Amino acid sequence: MEKDLPYDGPLFDAHSHAADESALKLMVGTGRKFGVERALLILHSPQSSRFRELYPGRFVFAKFFFGNTLLTDDPTGIRNEIASMREQGYSVAKMHFAPSWRDRIPEGAKPIPPVNDGQFDMFFGLLSDFQVPVVIHIADPDTYYATKYSNSEVYGTKESHIGDFEKRLSRSAHLRFQAAHFGAQPELSRLDNLGRMFDTYPNLYVDTGSARWMARELGKDPKRARAFVTRYCRRILFGTDCVARSLEREYYEGRFLTERLLWETNVRGVPLPFVDEDTKNSGGTFINGLSLSRSVLKRIYWENALALYGT
Ligand SMILES: [Zn+2]
Repeated sequence: MEKDLPYDGPLFDAHSHAADESALKLMVGTGRKFGVERALLILHSPQSSRFRELYPGRFVFAKFFFGNTLLTDDPTGIRNEIASMREQGYSVAKMHFAPSWRDRIPEGAKPIPPVNDGQFDMFFGLLSDFQVPVVIHIADPDTYYATKYSNSEVYGTKESHIGDFEKRLSRSAHLRFQAAHFGAQPELSRLDNLGRMFDTYPNLYVDTGSARWMARELGKDPKRARAFVTRYCRRILFGTDCVARSLEREYYEGRFLTERLLWETNVRGVPLPFVDEDTKNSGGTFINGLSLSRSVLKRIYWENALALYGT
């Protein structure tokens, strides 16, 4: 365990990805130094049995569903795919709805409809029937919308993407959603809306994935962020969004350390230990700690994830 960090209990990383076995070994080893004992691991190819063998009891596996799969007109196929998820070792579904999809659609192909579209009802209905919770990426940082998605005719607005997701929360009220990256709303101006969504939809949870996004935005007013996280601590899950692809230990260390400093300590102005592309030309990102209480930390680090995914 790293020295000088106040919390000494276990952590459950509720948002991580696996791409490569050697990188996964490095991610797990580095995670252990920071107290990470379990993790939700998103797989983009079927490796769950191999990883389960290598790390027994450590992972809950999420299966990645691509947009086109969701739009299938073969109800039996998709039903079988969801019905056999547990057998294949998966207990969670991962989906990605974000403006960057627009750039990946081949010329002339139909755009992927918004997440609340009726065409997705069957898919979400099946997940609900089989009680498979969803980790879902609904939108990106405000900084992206101000730059690479500034053409809202092409990419839509962040408000519309959050609004579409809200309609899905309402349409699929019996399905539990973990909206990645603080529901895409760690920006201070968005916290009130996120709080309203928590109050309205008991099926909504969020994770804290992307250390730099959380540190950059929540650290702008640690006192207010502390009050928010404390109030909604039953709905927030610690997550790093680390992708086990890099073979550089510093990549993992930087993310784990940043989040632990952010949640646990009262540090001020600590430079982010890696480059934040969104602020590198405007002075950089600095960590200002929220100094959360031990009972709140225990919830977001461990108990909430166990309640949602654990056995
Ligand atoms: Zn992710």
